[in-house]
Amino acid sequence: MAESNFVDYVKIYARSGKGGRGSTHFRREKYIPRGGPDGGDGGDGGSVVLRGNRNYWTLLHLKYQRHILAGHGQSGSGQLSKGKDGEDKIIEVPVGTIIFNGETGEFIADINHDGQEIVLLKGGRGGKGNNFFKTATNQAPKYAQPGEPYQELRIILQLKLLADVGLVGLPNAGKSTLLSVVSAAKPKIANYPFTTLEPSLGIVDVRGDHSFVMADIPGIIEGASEGKGLGLRFLRHIERNSLLLFMVPADAADIRKEYEMLLNELACYNPELLDKQRILAISKSDLLDEELENELAKDLPEDLPNLFISAITHKGIIALKDLLWKELNNQPFHDIESIAYKPLDLRLEDLDDDDDDLEIPEDEKEDLEFDFE
Ligand code: GDP
Ligand code: MG
Repeated sequence: MAESNFVDYVKIYARSGKGGRGSTHFRREKYIPRGGPDGGDGGDGGSVVLRGNRNYWTLLHLKYQRHILAGHGQSGSGQLSKGKDGEDKIIEVPVGTIIFNGETGEFIADINHDGQEIVLLKGGRGGKGNNFFKTATNQAPKYAQPGEPYQELRIILQLKLLADVGLVGLPNAGKSTLLSVVSAAKPKIANYPFTTLEPSLGIVDVRGDHSFVMADIPGIIEGASEGKGLGLRFLRHIERNSLLLFMVPADAADIRKEYEMLLNELACYNPELLDKQRILAISKSDLLDEELENELAKDLPEDLPNLFISAITHKGIIALKDLLWKELNNQPFHDIESIAYKPLDLRLEDLDDDDDDLEIPEDEKEDLEFDFE
């Protein structure tokens, strides 16, 4: 999967800007022999801010941009001139990104809606210039404050594929279409197999109160049976899904058989997958009339809840979302949030990229020296 654009894990170095130094300037003008202190304040350092952006679906854009450095505040100067503030740096992340401390694995934040902003590292405040320290007894202070220092942090960003729903079905079952209907995700949809070569994610809203993540995962059936070798990487995600939504289209020759075949494929892959909760959706049920539907309903597998849906007419979609939410919350010892927010065990994180390249680049280091007036 070296070629994949699906990036669900990155580690980056972030640094806020330091505050600019206050100035110790004195007025010097003709005819004003003893001008007072007029040193301005330093500018504030820029902050590093995380912002949810629903136009991003992966962390790819951060993979090659791994030092996020906000601007430093500039020093103040004479004539009460305040230094320029350093520029903020916004890290745009897909909705569903969880941020961990890269050194301790501790959970820091969860970006779960579009436009949500979290200040990760606050910029240092600019120092006061000498004018600020002028008092009745000290009319000519020769000192000013330095700016506050910057803050730095290594963070791990992870897309939250955990704890939610994975779609399992043959090509053409309507998985991508369903995802596009229940969430804002825009997966590729086509009437031929193998359109989905990378997982798409959608945040599914449940009656405005709750949300969960649904993933259209390729490579389980399509890749596996084709020997495409896509499986392993994505299996990691399906292993984390707490619930599998099986999809069999209403026009399948034998719904029960197709379901059993899917189940069997999963079992061949990893028998533990069968421990997960399962729901069966009979998709494309707009193709059925009521009579036919009742007939089919009599012979569905008994070991899991089922329902008839149509992504086209939206039949059963609200019921499906309610059922998924209910089942997600039904699981013993299962708390979606606590699983997602559990600190990372850094020893288990098999990062293929090592940390060395997270060191601050040489040309940026100079920038860290204090600039004395
Ligand atoms: P996937 O391979 O499982 O992701 O399937 P897609 O979502 O790409 O859909 C395959 C084909 O089935 C497309 O031509 C869709 O337009 C069609 N389809 C999907 N959902 C429905 C549905 O609810 N009703 C009908 N009649 N067709 C559907
Ligand atoms: Mg698809």
